Amino acid sequence: MVNVGVLGATGMVGQRFIELLGDHPDFEITALTASKRSAGKRYEDAVTWYLDSPIPEVARDIKVVDTDPAEVKDVEIVFSALPADIALNVEPKFAEAGMTVASNAAAMRMEPDVPLVIPEVNPEHLELLEIQQKNRGWEGSIVTNPNCSTIALTMTLKPLYDEFDIERVYVSTMQAVSGAGYDGVPSMAIVDNLVPFIGGEEEKMETETLELLGDLEDGVLTPANFGVSASCHRVAVVDGHTEAVFIEFADDFEVDDVEKSLREFQGMPQKLDLYSAPQPPIIVREEDNRPQPRMDRNAEKGMAVTVGRIRKDAAFDKSLRYVLVGHNTIRGAAGASILNAELINEIM
Ligand code: NAP
Repeated sequence: MVNVGVLGATGMVGQRFIELLGDHPDFEITALTASKRSAGKRYEDAVTWYLDSPIPEVARDIKVVDTDPAEVKDVEIVFSALPADIALNVEPKFAEAGMTVASNAAAMRMEPDVPLVIPEVNPEHLELLEIQQKNRGWEGSIVTNPNCSTIALTMTLKPLYDEFDIERVYVSTMQAVSGAGYDGVPSMAIVDNLVPFIGGEEEKMETETLELLGDLEDGVLTPANFGVSASCHRVAVVDGHTEAVFIEFADDFEVDDVEKSLREFQGMPQKLDLYSAPQPPIIVREEDNRPQPRMDRNAEKGMAVTVGRIRKDAAFDKSLRYVLVGHNTIRGAAGASILNAELINEIM
């Protein structure tokens, strides 16, 4: 077993980490950190647990410590669910202290020597870890996963990007409130309502997508070359982001070929049969009224993306439309980091 820790263990994503790691066959939770408000308390007393499942036994009695590498002993991998501004200062200290940091936070994502990875999409970008260690003189390292809505979108774009010539992608999201953290969106702002702005989200989708599909050569990343335009909205759903996707291709296409390529897609996690790998990673539904967050967010334990309403656009030629649902705190956050760590553990 590999000893692991969770940084920011009491938050929304932190709790998902604890839930998913609770019965993990290769990773054992031995350290939990949070802010000074929680440090010193048993995990069960420090956390306001919001998940349906009970707190895993293994975590209940662990004493939460300050988010400082000196407080975290004998741990190989730490999963970070820290707010971005805190992560920026703290994650490098954990990497310097020799730990692998698998981070959800946006802080280090755009550093040229920090890989931004979805294991099904760009596992080869993990090559940057060696360069990062050399550049920074670290014994440990930092790997990041993209923002929650980008992960779901890019998983579906990958098989299409490999097979067809994409010219433009327009995406309109309907994002769950858990994506903003426990105290993120006041109930008075969201019940009976929709908020048409999520700070920084559209920019993240527009840049991270192209980076993930980009080519890495001699340590230098060239982003994919097509346009991405995102409109992001918060809706009154607890978990599960829905995205309406519109793609313009350079050439005409058959809907059957698109469906086949989504259905048959397999990435490295599936080929290596990693513990958290969804089989299949993309589920295609035929019903007119699917996917829906309540019905589809937990597909493959929340790790698969469900796609439906695949069709040609009626008004514009060479254009495709579909709707997807992905679980934002599992596939879009904690599960994504865990899959990154499983891949690193397996191949590096
Ligand atoms: P959250 O619910 O607000 O939790 C924040 C966590 O960080 C808590 O454990 C909190 O501990 C801890 N923390 C706060 N201030 C700290 C400090 N000064 N020092 C050390 N720890 C501190 O946030 P979240 O939704 O889990 O998000 C965590 C990260 O994941 C963010 O960077 C977010 O952007 C990213 N992310 C979230 C989602 C999502 O769907 N929610 C998806 C992708 C990425 P206390 O309980 O002690 O305050």
